[in-house]
Amino acid sequence: MFSYTEYQEFNLETINYYTMGKIIAIANQKGGVGKTTTAINLAASLAALEMKTLLVDADPQANSTSGLGYNPKTIENSIYECMVDGIDAKDLILKTNIPNLDLVPSHIDLVGAEVEMINLEGREQKMKESLATLKDAYDFILLDCSPSLGLITVNSLVAADSVLVPVQCEYFALEGLGKLLHTIKLIQSKLNTELEIEGILLTMYDLRIRLSNQVVEEVRTHFQSLVFETIIPRNIRLSESPSFGLPAIAHDAESKGAVSYLNLAQEILEKNVVAVARYELKEDGKSLESEKLIAIISNIY
Ligand code: ATP
Ligand code: MG
Repeated sequence: MFSYTEYQEFNLETINYYTMGKIIAIANQKGGVGKTTTAINLAASLAALEMKTLLVDADPQANSTSGLGYNPKTIENSIYECMVDGIDAKDLILKTNIPNLDLVPSHIDLVGAEVEMINLEGREQKMKESLATLKDAYDFILLDCSPSLGLITVNSLVAADSVLVPVQCEYFALEGLGKLLHTIKLIQSKLNTELEIEGILLTMYDLRIRLSNQVVEEVRTHFQSLVFETIIPRNIRLSESPSFGLPAIAHDAESKGAVSYLNLAQEILEKNVVAVARYELKEDGKSLESEKLIAIISNIY
């Protein structure tokens, strides 16, 4: 990271260097907590904020692939063929309906993919190697992980610069989180010393349910500043938009769900000041007002 004064001296070329493909793994081995919903809608929101974004579907369930309008049954090569057979990930990139948002798909026919990988040399590094050639082509690369801590998720955490953990505002919200954090620590100590926690994201919040508020309080008490300020509400548009093959922002941009993911994208950009700086430097009139930007940066430093 660099100081505010240094930031002022930055030119676009330098900033480009710093923003080259930040890889964020979206992981929690607990099922159904909102990983895929977050992957799709955060990716689309970053893209809407003019960040060149790639979503890598790293889950055999292929929900991100179908949620962005592709039928996983028709996908021939996925991220797994890159990892196992050494196919170039560049050849797999699919365009989406959202400008600035690309997809590396998954497919369902993955029986034995993890088993095949077990005998490969450097088996935990395969995803990192596969994504290496893409890093400089994107501002952000998001990895939608499966609900497991198996070899493919370990590969995602080794490839990632940071991990974003969705936590559902429900009974047993914190269940399994200890195990996930333990895995993250192990990976930090052995396989990826640079891995950071991007943040814990509270999802499916329901204002009317007291339990939701209790979970928010409990998670904030435990994890304090690691928890994103943005909370994702339970919202019907978020659950129905995958059936249209669209992120919520393209299905109903005004919906609470779409707006909350835009807020999250903004919060992440603010955390990663370099990206905000690049956004501000755009000359097309759509950029953030400088004053707001300066306020953001002064808050951080
Ligand atoms: P898995 O562990 O199976 O990969 P996941 O963690 O990716 O699941 P999602 O698929 O994103 O979780 O969400 C689980 C279900 O909850 C889906 O049906 C999804 O549409 C719904 N859902 C997720 N977030 C919200 C939300 N904020 N509001 C309403 N429904 C939601
Ligand atoms: Mg999922």
